[in-house]
Amino acid sequence: MTNEELWQAVLGEMELSISKASFTTWFKNTSIFGISENLIVISVPNIFAKEWLEKKYKENLLKAIRQYDTKITSLSCKIGNSENNIVSSTNKESSSDQNIRRTIDIRKSFINKPIQKRPNSYRSNLNKRYSFESFVVGSNNELAYAACRSIAESPGKNYNPLFIYGGVGLGKTHLLQSTGNYALEINPDIKIRYVSMERFTNELVDAIQKSRAKEFKNNYIDLDILILDDVQFLAGKEKTQEEFFHIFESLYHLGKQIILSSDRAPKSIPTIEDRLRSRFEGGMMADVNKPDLETRIAIINKKLTEKNSSLPENVVEYLATNIYHNVRELEGALNKIIVTFQLRNTIPTIEDVTELTRDVISVNRQKNLTTSKIIKSVSDFYDVKLEEVIGKSRQKKIVKPRQISVYFLRQELNLSFPEIGKVLGGRDHSTAIYAYEKITKELENNLLLKDQLKFIKEKFIEY
Ligand code: ADP
Ligand code: MG
Repeated sequence: MTNEELWQAVLGEMELSISKASFTTWFKNTSIFGISENLIVISVPNIFAKEWLEKKYKENLLKAIRQYDTKITSLSCKIGNSENNIVSSTNKESSSDQNIRRTIDIRKSFINKPIQKRPNSYRSNLNKRYSFESFVVGSNNELAYAACRSIAESPGKNYNPLFIYGGVGLGKTHLLQSTGNYALEINPDIKIRYVSMERFTNELVDAIQKSRAKEFKNNYIDLDILILDDVQFLAGKEKTQEEFFHIFESLYHLGKQIILSSDRAPKSIPTIEDRLRSRFEGGMMADVNKPDLETRIAIINKKLTEKNSSLPENVVEYLATNIYHNVRELEGALNKIIVTFQLRNTIPTIEDVTELTRDVISVNRQKNLTTSKIIKSVSDFYDVKLEEVIGKSRQKKIVKPRQISVYFLRQELNLSFPEIGKVLGGRDHSTAIYAYEKITKELENNLLLKDQLKFIKEKFIEY
């Protein structure tokens, strides 16, 4: 297997595990620069990709790489685009670069595991990691939990469809996956599929291109339980909505179970057809909210038990008190602590933990972040007046900071769209929704904007 084949195989794995937008943003124009001993060096086009690959995707990448080459234990990135670029700048290579490049050919012969085939067309996509046992029930999620359990026990009977909604990292995917796993445990013959709306859309587009739309649909209406995650992704996608509507109707009339999740209530998903919205609202709706302190402590303890690990009680309390935005963040911090202290083989103190979790906690610390602080820091960044942002002007240089203010008001303070409209000079909620969608979309592939927003966010603390 050549480096190029290895990288293609790794990309294939990554593509399956992250969203399409992230995949293209971070993995476009990457390649293997070289392999030396247990180090793999990836060529990336820019500093952003370097940071993301090294920080966010390193573990996943290494895991994927090790399936083909078990010797590799560390990874770093080097800016400098494709193979061609590197070749043309050979003269400027440092001696360590040359060393790495020299070993490429030697290493080629090491790797001979065949490239894995993509999974076949029928797959439940269920991940055994998720179970009801590992889910902590609190007042923030008990309704959704109860509905999911009941559905797993008797699908298609009581709540159909079930629509679970709530913010990022609050356990929606966990609940959906657990429902599928439990239903399958009770009845191993049941046909279940879990799929994110993004993937559903991609597969549909693919099927249409290959003139296999009918087959695609038949595959779905054959299911006993269809679990669709993140249906907010349907917004604005007319063709997918149309196809999905028919699948929904068929399943529903056959008495088959449909479970949906979304980051917001159906009425807040802009640009979806009314007939779909009314179907979503026609069954049972259950929201998931942020867990309270007690639940956060219980979650930490559960995760510690699962990992066969423990932390001093005051450290657990410190984490639970300071990280309250969502469970994913809490889990991330906890993992970081566990790994660090397993390596050091010592027991962490509050000071250690403060140091380790500084990024996430400092953000959470902004308890007195207010609407005006947000609008003021955005205005300052774009060099316009706060009064202009909340005023009537439709000049381009004002509209942009206004839209970004909407984005932050929603993201940081969780304000509703009507509230946001009000704060920004009495605008209509549809204007706020439009602005929020626009910025969210733009962030998917505009690195500069992403960077600017990160910068502005850091400034919030100073206001
Ligand atoms: P969402 O789909 O709402 O964005 P996830 O289901 O992906 O959130 O949850 C994020 C992480 O937090 C997952 O690892 C999940 O296992 C964990 N998690 C969320 N809520 C709970 C809970 N109540 N008990 C245990 N783990 C939870
Ligand atoms: Mg999710």
